[in-house]
Amino acid sequence: MNTAQRLRLQRRFALRRLGGVSMVAAVTAAFSWPAGLALLALGLGWAWWRAEREFSEVVELAFSGDPLEGCSARARLVLEPLRAQEGGWRRRVEAARRDRERLIAAWDRLPIGVVWLQSDGTIRRLNRRAEELLQLRRRLHAGQPLALFLPEPRWVERIRTAGEEGFTGEVPQRGETLYCRLQWVPLEEGEALLLVEDRTEAMRLERMRRDFVANVSHELRTPLTIVRGYLETALDSPTPPPPPLGGYLEQVHAQAVRMQRLVEDLLTLAQLEGTQPPPAQWLDVAELLETAADQARGVAPDGITVEVSPPPRPREILGVRTELESALGNLALNAVRYTPAPGRVVIGMRDLENGECELFVRDTGIGIAPEHVPRLTERFYRVDRARSRDRGGTGLGLAIVNHVAQRHEARLLIDSVPGQGSEFRLRFPPGRWRARVR
Ligand code: ADP
Repeated sequence: MNTAQRLRLQRRFALRRLGGVSMVAAVTAAFSWPAGLALLALGLGWAWWRAEREFSEVVELAFSGDPLEGCSARARLVLEPLRAQEGGWRRRVEAARRDRERLIAAWDRLPIGVVWLQSDGTIRRLNRRAEELLQLRRRLHAGQPLALFLPEPRWVERIRTAGEEGFTGEVPQRGETLYCRLQWVPLEEGEALLLVEDRTEAMRLERMRRDFVANVSHELRTPLTIVRGYLETALDSPTPPPPPLGGYLEQVHAQAVRMQRLVEDLLTLAQLEGTQPPPAQWLDVAELLETAADQARGVAPDGITVEVSPPPRPREILGVRTELESALGNLALNAVRYTPAPGRVVIGMRDLENGECELFVRDTGIGIAPEHVPRLTERFYRVDRARSRDRGGTGLGLAIVNHVAQRHEARLLIDSVPGQGSEFRLRFPPGRWRARVR
């Protein structure tokens, strides 16, 4: 309590007592002015002195916590509500302290690492799991820039731009390598949380699954080629097998071809998932578009036209030829597969105003209902399984396209209207394409 507050309270105590004194002084003044004034002065002095004593008593009791029995009625009047309020405050402070301790204990028991970052990128707090995964010590590293303690300083930018998916990187740790998924969660006023999750075991299982699928596919390849070869020899021989054996063999041949396509797609996927992309080269866009169009024309039934809409000026894309040809080829084959005659397929490129560019495949086909669109890149997801099979689909085409897109820093975007057609776009960032230099 400061001096002004103290004086104000003391004055209030004094004024309460002044009522009676001033009455007696007024009556005395009616008979004798000097006697009245003297009485008033005496009364004032007395009232101030009493107020001072009462005030000291209140202050002493207020801070001592002693019981209130025995103190004056006036002091009790002030102190009782104060004590009640103080009890409430004490309970609240105690509850807040306990909550804080529990929160800190919970924060340290979280199974994922959390680093609380300040707006300038320095570490504010980190939990125990983050200490273990990133090999940090809170006493040592709090207040220091996080970028200095990640395996590569530019990871901060990569994590920040990776969005909800996060960024998975290798974190060396005492002779072994951990795979950690790092995710950026923006907070108020430029602060952020960095979530660190150990994905080493999940990655190991994922690698085992991939290797298993790749090995099985590889083992199936040779017997399938032999089966298909003998079937073709039998079917193409000068004395073809008589019916109904000929019909059966035709069906077995069709299934062998389908299985071969499946095996090839599985191997392509395993290779895209499990390896680093080979070095990228500048590729002529018009050539890529023509190759995809040729593939589509090769299987297009009568009544389906396949056109190329080349970029307005010659363009090049930085990528891996086999992968981009496979992605565009898959999109073009799908367009032909899901477009009934008469129909039109256009394969082209367009520049966007923000510096990005798109390779697109547009058709006037059956289209896709919106609820299916988010799941189309899942392996073996088909809108209509029977139709896909009839048209020679494996259910892996768009998964392959999506992987190729990711390996080229591109995004696969899909627009479709049921009954009207679809457009599949591969959108590349500015650094991935240029005007042709030759
Ligand atoms: P599939 O081998 O079955 O075509 P994809 O992964 O290439 O497998 O495509 C997945 C599903 O997406 C297809 O089964 C089909 O339902 C749908 N789809 C793909 N492309 C088109 C398209 N151009 N028009 C309509 N539906 C399409």
